[in-house]
Amino acid sequence: MTIDDAPRDALRGGPRELLRWVATGAAVSRADLSRLSGLSPSTVSQRVEALISQGLLEEAGAGRSRGGRRPRQLAVPTGGAVVGAIDLGAHHARVGALDLSGRVVQARTLPVRIEDGPEAVLGALLAEVATLVGSDPAAGGSSVGALRGVGIGIPGPVQHSTGRIVSPSRMPGWNGFDVAAFCAGRVDVPVIVDNDANLMALGAHRTAHSELDHAVYIKAGTGIGSGVISSGRLHRGAQGSAGDISHCRVVADPAPPCTCGNAGCLEAVASGAALVTALREQGVPVSDLTGVIRLIDDGDRQATALARQAGRAVGEILAVVVNFFNPQVVAIGGRLADCEPLLASMRATLYERCLPLATQTLLIERVAAGQDVGITGAAHLVIDHVVAAA
Ligand SMILES: [Zn+2]
Repeated sequence: MTIDDAPRDALRGGPRELLRWVATGAAVSRADLSRLSGLSPSTVSQRVEALISQGLLEEAGAGRSRGGRRPRQLAVPTGGAVVGAIDLGAHHARVGALDLSGRVVQARTLPVRIEDGPEAVLGALLAEVATLVGSDPAAGGSSVGALRGVGIGIPGPVQHSTGRIVSPSRMPGWNGFDVAAFCAGRVDVPVIVDNDANLMALGAHRTAHSELDHAVYIKAGTGIGSGVISSGRLHRGAQGSAGDISHCRVVADPAPPCTCGNAGCLEAVASGAALVTALREQGVPVSDLTGVIRLIDDGDRQATALARQAGRAVGEILAVVVNFFNPQVVAIGGRLADCEPLLASMRATLYERCLPLATQTLLIERVAAGQDVGITGAAHLVIDHVVAAA
């Protein structure tokens, strides 16, 4: 059982980078890898052989000849459900089996009751991973033994070095729970634990914009958080709390109380849970975030006003982040990302509050990767770990 360390092969031509060039189609041969990395053909060959022996690369037929012997083509093995992924949310979990390129082979959404506690919830989800991996038809129903690792996203703060959950705001009974140790007793492969916003950031960055080095991803659903890509890599900070904007204070009058004990936190103003609470206090009988989104889509006056207020609050915090960090792209995902009034006021606030140099070429957009973005990020965490270990 290990928790992945920050990627260490930042040096050009590390195994991780070689694999990514092949996975993205930037390289199909050893010669391509040598050209891209600047490494000698013999060094590239050595690394490629190591990756092939670990089952992380394969030779796939012959490439186009430029005269002489036709070069052997390299490929990342696809189709095998060898990476397990769990993206845990407040009410649902997306569980998937993915291949080594990060492509989803099978996935399904399960209802979850967080309040049932970590053992019951994680136990059931790990069993579902085993079922999905084991039922992969491409592997003849026997691929459980081929499982390389499991990536898990948690909707709360995760101490990166230990995989422990620390003071989550809406997860009663989960505080201090050692997810990694619990999973070690149930699966015999590395389990990598991170927070859900980081997984979304990684999944979104790898599937779109992997060419951009600096990106901020906002996850706006029941809760609200963000993940940061810096110099092309997930930036977690010292403990793993980097990007957690949920308890940054925003100007709000009166400042609504927050689950953390403070008042006026971004989460208490702009999260899906906050919108549900605020509408109920105004006498609107809404039961959950789905109901709120429906009201906004229908142009309900109160719900739309609250969505605009939420967008301004997100924009205020994001403006500080953008001025400080100067990303190339800010993308918003999660269930509130399709909420047009929220997005519009977030965008307007950003332009109003940011330095022109910071917003001149800044892309502001929705995360396009869909409901599998979290499990895709979880799979990439595992793949990166497996490659680094190889
Ligand atoms: Zn708070």
